[in-house]
Amino acid sequence: MRRLFIILGDQLDRESLIFKHADREQDHFWMAEVAEESTHVWSHKQRTALFLSAMRHFAQWLKGEAYPLTYLAMDSHEFPSLSDALGDFLSEHQPEEVWMVKPGDYRVFKSLAETCKAHDTDIKQLHDQHFLSTPAEFKQWADGKKQLRMEYWYRQLRKQYKVLMSDDKTPEGGKWNYDQSNRKSFGKDGPQKVPKTLEWPQDDITKDVIVLVNDRFADHPGELESLHWPVTPEQAEQALARFLDEALPQFGDYQDAMWTGEPFLNHSLISAAMNLKMLHPMTVIEQAELRYHHGDAPLAAVEGFIRQILGWREYVRGLYWLHMPDWLEMNALGAKQDLPDFYWTAETDMTCLRESIGQTLKYGYAHHIQRLMVTGLFALVYGVDPKQVHEWYLAVYVDAVEWVELPNTLGMSQYADDGIMASKPYAASGQYINRMSNYCKHCKYDPKLAVGDKACSVTTLYWDFLDTHRERLAANPRMGFMLKNLQAKSSEDIAAIKAQAVTFRERTS
Ligand code: SF4
Repeated sequence: MRRLFIILGDQLDRESLIFKHADREQDHFWMAEVAEESTHVWSHKQRTALFLSAMRHFAQWLKGEAYPLTYLAMDSHEFPSLSDALGDFLSEHQPEEVWMVKPGDYRVFKSLAETCKAHDTDIKQLHDQHFLSTPAEFKQWADGKKQLRMEYWYRQLRKQYKVLMSDDKTPEGGKWNYDQSNRKSFGKDGPQKVPKTLEWPQDDITKDVIVLVNDRFADHPGELESLHWPVTPEQAEQALARFLDEALPQFGDYQDAMWTGEPFLNHSLISAAMNLKMLHPMTVIEQAELRYHHGDAPLAAVEGFIRQILGWREYVRGLYWLHMPDWLEMNALGAKQDLPDFYWTAETDMTCLRESIGQTLKYGYAHHIQRLMVTGLFALVYGVDPKQVHEWYLAVYVDAVEWVELPNTLGMSQYADDGIMASKPYAASGQYINRMSNYCKHCKYDPKLAVGDKACSVTTLYWDFLDTHRERLAANPRMGFMLKNLQAKSSEDIAAIKAQAVTFRERTS
């Protein structure tokens, strides 16, 4: 065997660079399903089933294209980990070289590289062309900058790829960012028309996977009567078309809004397909931009959506490779609490958390504001150990791969990196949740109150958080307004809030 090409579960790209290098006559492809990828964090059943079904569909396509493939299905072998399975293959077949596309998880790459080294070979890495920039380009951009901000990286890529540009230097509409227009709530009446989501009939591959996951990972979080996510590039294209046709025009206005019983609203639901590399980011960007040029969607909605992909996605991936492995160990705020049990059960009387966690456990999905400003916000102000928060997010979301999940959790949401990712901690009281949703109307607590029986714990913990980290936060000009409000409170008020926070933590730990 001349070369072995490894394909991981999040590398299901039919246009991958490996196919430009591979020789069907002399080279070989290798894919493996292993339990460790579902147990190193306690993976949601939907997440495991999505990966396995999509992998098996990709293997079917590879075989149809006559690529020689070894595919280890989970029920056909006893290897606990990818490195164990690969080591066995290398011992038996001794390929001259091992190649793969750059993985999205430092841990996985390290273990595979060590396995190869033990077999006297290095892994040659190819660019993952499902990203529009490389870690080396990002590093070059970041070098020498005191502070990195997504907005400037995004503008550079907008110019480079001529996305939403009037000319070489001028953004479409004269503004780079329409974020201010994209923060509406649904008001009293709620969402007027929520687009339907797609469901695909289960083929034999998906049916087999559902049986396997329900059997093998029975005690893992989540439900799996059916699988709600695209498992082939064709299904991913259909999911994209649904979003563009039915949800994009309203997406901008309400992208930060939340509503009881509405898990999906106007969100695209394509992040999992993109992160498994079944849907190319430039396809998504180009099609969204066309909707604007054809007058089918407003600029603010299209720009806000494209910024998530061309800006945010590329930025977090660049940061991930710039700061790993150190990022994983950061805990700038010294947070030590255990993650409350209700993150795994949704059994809480706080409506915002019950709704956001409940839909997460059902579908493996919550939208970005539910993740950042409900579950993430609560963990931040409660003071949960950021590594536990990271492991929860990596486990429960179908689109979670470490390159995207870790920066968003440890950086953006938990501020464990002391501001590498975000210019300030995303701390807020229950009043923010009340403004952006109807959750508080259905809650026994009052978001305005920080003490007493009706006190909203998000609000209590918010003031407690500000007081606990008062000195550190004082150095951050973006925290000035919040700290001024804190200073307006009397020492008796602060003492009562802190006592309430202690009682709440004792009750929930
Ligand atoms: Fe959440 Fe507080 Fe609102 Fe209840 S009152 S839903 S706990 S923010």
